[in-house]
Amino acid sequence: MNHDESLSGADPIVRLDKVNKHFGSLHVLKDIDLAVSSGEVVVIIGASGSGKSTLIRCINGLEEFQQGHIQVDGNDLVPHGKATKALQKIRTEVGMVFQQFNLFPHLSVLDNVTLAPMKVRGWNRVDATETAERLLERVDISDQAAKYPTQLSGGQQQRVALARALAMEPRLMLFDEPTSALDPEMIGEVLDAMRELAKEGMTMMIVTHEMGFAREVADRVVYIHQGEIAEEGPPEQVFDAPRNERTRSFLSRVL
Ligand code: ADP
Ligand code: MG
Repeated sequence: MNHDESLSGADPIVRLDKVNKHFGSLHVLKDIDLAVSSGEVVVIIGASGSGKSTLIRCINGLEEFQQGHIQVDGNDLVPHGKATKALQKIRTEVGMVFQQFNLFPHLSVLDNVTLAPMKVRGWNRVDATETAERLLERVDISDQAAKYPTQLSGGQQQRVALARALAMEPRLMLFDEPTSALDPEMIGEVLDAMRELAKEGMTMMIVTHEMGFAREVADRVVYIHQGEIAEEGPPEQVFDAPRNERTRSFLSRVL
């Protein structure tokens, strides 16, 4: 996206203004300002403990914050996370895929995917099943629909988790190290599914250590250092010509 487009484009779908988050005496997020446009793919990188998960979790209200303001698709999250209507709305509009797949172990793959649309959106079983089958096809796993999560490989489980999130027709997808718990040979199949999603125009915020993938899919890379955005920019700039000494040092350790 060029500068003119970003100025004339629609309002951002996600906006954080001066967000501060503490865990007790630990200041985990410091004055985070971040805006994500519709269709944009933002990859968040940084050392372990720098606040990446906390940032992602604040955006869909899994963590409360103490100062600042978060807006997601026109819904406002306020400090000290009250259980507001906006929070409920955000949870139905934002899909999340975690490092640990978090599938419901007692439900089949198909039922994992149909559950939320039926319960939360009130879809009937026929419609929910039709959508689920289409999504399972899309992540290339329709042959596993009747199985239970423990009968699948990690890569297959993570693709089911992706289909389950997509079944809610999210406006935004959050990923927190979706491939970090996978055996190396399964990382590619999950990244492929995410790459497809990015191509289709999904707005995505992705925490990952897969730098090759980040370079390829990101419109923007955000480097977090000790709870602050130390640098952000297009992948070519952040990876090939980092402006901040800390980014340089981090990349030299991980690349
Ligand atoms: P990252 O995802 O970048 O590894 P996190 O957001 O998980 O970092 O954690 C940022 C900091 O907040 C770390 O110092 C971590 O120990 C701390 N932290 C995370 N969750 C909690 C919690 N529930 N209670 C207290 N401290 C936490
Ligand atoms: Mg984390």
